[in-house]
Amino acid sequence: MKKQTIAIDTPYVRPDAYGSLAVPIYNNVAFEFDDAAEMADAFCNRIKAPDYARVENPTVTNLEQRVRLLTNAAHVTAFNSGMAAISNTLLAVASQGKNIVTSHHLFGNTLALISNTLLRFGVKPRLRDLTDLQAVEDAIDEHTCCVFLEIVTNPQLEVADLHAIAEIAHQKGVPLIVDSTVIPFTETHLRELGVDVEVVSSTKYLSGGGTSLGGLVIDYGTFPLINQRIKYELLFNLGAYMTSQAAYLQTLGLETLDVRYQRQAANALQLAEGLRELGMIQNVNYIGLKDNPYYQLAQRQFGKTAGAMLTIDLASKDACFRFLNRLRLIHRATNLFDNRTLAIHPASTIFGLFPEHQLEKMNVRQTTIRLSVGLEAVEDLLEDLQQALEDDL
Ligand SMILES: *Cc1c(COP(=O)(O)O)cnc(C)c1O
Repeated sequence: MKKQTIAIDTPYVRPDAYGSLAVPIYNNVAFEFDDAAEMADAFCNRIKAPDYARVENPTVTNLEQRVRLLTNAAHVTAFNSGMAAISNTLLAVASQGKNIVTSHHLFGNTLALISNTLLRFGVKPRLRDLTDLQAVEDAIDEHTCCVFLEIVTNPQLEVADLHAIAEIAHQKGVPLIVDSTVIPFTETHLRELGVDVEVVSSTKYLSGGGTSLGGLVIDYGTFPLINQRIKYELLFNLGAYMTSQAAYLQTLGLETLDVRYQRQAANALQLAEGLRELGMIQNVNYIGLKDNPYYQLAQRQFGKTAGAMLTIDLASKDACFRFLNRLRLIHRATNLFDNRTLAIHPASTIFGLFPEHQLEKMNVRQTTIRLSVGLEAVEDLLEDLQQALEDDL
């Protein structure tokens, strides 16, 4: 079956008593057993049956199952935020004395997790330019526990060569773990490029309406220890599993993901082209524009769509603030891939507490506005952007 069908028509494992057409919300914590032997089997993983909702819940299992069928992954685990998916995955591979090869160009909290939190437990960050393959190769040694990267960095919109990095990592027996939040897994075939594990903030495209936090670990089974640690150690000991309420909302989101995403990506491309024609902006950065330095690589790796995030550069930080303040339709808010279009000045918000020299290293500029393009009519969006820009001329 095709992805659109799988997203909608994956039956839940145990049909409920009333044949509910939508996935039921199992809003309970504990599950009852017919006899002591079955209970023992469930607790000791001899049979697969939920016993306690910190580690398994049928509503969440159904979401995981749909994502597994959509990605052909070996295992999918749902967490209660993107950060929970990322931290649990890194904790599954890392231990004292190991290092993580990654880049400065990371989601702010991921960078802080790797360079502060994990460092306190003796895991060392190796921050490199991941578009420099020699630098990646030189950074990996016998203590490297993974190479971690974002498939399109935010807000730099940098794209690394996944196939080349996977080859380098695998030659040294190291898994490649990627954050693929920016392009939905329904569009890509990252396993074919050599990716071992994808982590996703399902808060973004999946939830759609910004209804719920969630994270997914999509594990292709190439490094079996990762799933064992996640499923049989970390879910139990860290307690960051997705809740049934969030899974329900995100399952509804998954059912309409493809149509929403196609529209959002088309809107983003049209907006990028339209903004450029306005000629009032110093720079429009979108990996779906043919003359973007990453266009060819992005098309090869991710297919014909290029996501719904773009950035524009204005003359100064003040110009960015004036522009944001004049927006009438587009919302001043963080978050990505909401149904509504959102605008933010990353340097003063998401990265607002980072010192200037670090911002430089991360290539987060004071002149950049990030746009997450939604489902509105593109003419209305362009008109709002135009009036917000024009007043500054
Ligand atoms: C939002 C985001 C995260 C964190 O996800 P939460 O669901 O907010 O915890 C991680 N990585 C990327 C690329 C993101 O955009």
